[in-house]
Amino acid sequence: MINFDLDYFKKVAQDIFTCDSPTGYTQNVIELVKKYVDSFGYESRIMNNGALEVTIKGEDETKTVATSAHCDTLGLMVRSIKGDGHLALTKLGGPITPTLDGEYCKVYTRDGKTYTGTILSTSAATHVYPDANTKSRDIDNLEVRLDELVHTKDDVAKLGIQNGDIVCYDPKFEVTPSGFLKTRFIDDKASAVVLLMLLKYTSENKLKFKYNTKIYFVVYEEVGHGASMVDKNISEFVTLDMGCVGLDLAGNEEAVSICAKDSGGPYDYELTTRLINMAKDNNLNYTVDIFPFYGSDIGAASRAGVDFKGALIGTGVSASHGMERTHIKGIENTLKIIYAYLVK
Ligand SMILES: [Zn+2]
Repeated sequence: MINFDLDYFKKVAQDIFTCDSPTGYTQNVIELVKKYVDSFGYESRIMNNGALEVTIKGEDETKTVATSAHCDTLGLMVRSIKGDGHLALTKLGGPITPTLDGEYCKVYTRDGKTYTGTILSTSAATHVYPDANTKSRDIDNLEVRLDELVHTKDDVAKLGIQNGDIVCYDPKFEVTPSGFLKTRFIDDKASAVVLLMLLKYTSENKLKFKYNTKIYFVVYEEVGHGASMVDKNISEFVTLDMGCVGLDLAGNEEAVSICAKDSGGPYDYELTTRLINMAKDNNLNYTVDIFPFYGSDIGAASRAGVDFKGALIGTGVSASHGMERTHIKGIENTLKIIYAYLVK
């Protein structure tokens, strides 16, 4: 069984998590992922929509199986520039917007400049606004205060900032001594790191994959059409994405969640059962759950007309799309089950 190299995990995770990659602005993270894949000696190509496809020959070439992690994250975009020089916002994906109040952010312009700022409520000052505590923190009541001497719309335009510019907020990446990965965007960068760890291990140990294998580092998952571009010849597809934690769900941060059903309906019965049995046989800490408000890349590939068996696994993530957290043990269990599925 593959061993979990904590030091390597920390190094790669730091690299991947601190590379801003909201959905629609993923070229930098995909280039970074490709550098890792190239260094392991695997063949890959960047697809037209910006995703990375890794192609590996299997011991048995009679079928092709696939796995994926999505590298796009939640984020924001400039909706408009206000008269006072603040920036109105629109969401990229579905962040829990009250958690954004007070976050430091960066604005990326289309001519390659970067500016810093803070996301704030439009009633930000307690000494001025009677509703500073109670005002809704929905996206229309949040704005960016730029760290620049700007007082008018014109001042901001002169910086080169325009509508449609990308706004990224600080992931606050941290691995605690107690083993928690505490950062935004564990959904789904934790899975991307898992797949890089897998490829490093198989490369260094010259291990064969069971079947022809496609590994996708997907973009646009957060807006629903991520894995629509997967190879039409795949017969199985196990996507890696976050497991849900909360309410009556069994999922937790130390275990790998195996999803039986989400908003898109049930996952493939046989493949899901096979993964549960693999988890059992390898003494992994796993849970089986339904995810109440959830869609995955399996749905995107199905809607694109690909004929395959689909399954979904991933580490349990607390406070998803907000201030997320998981534990190294959950990530390790995820690495081990995908290793058992693809390699041995
Ligand atoms: Zn996700």
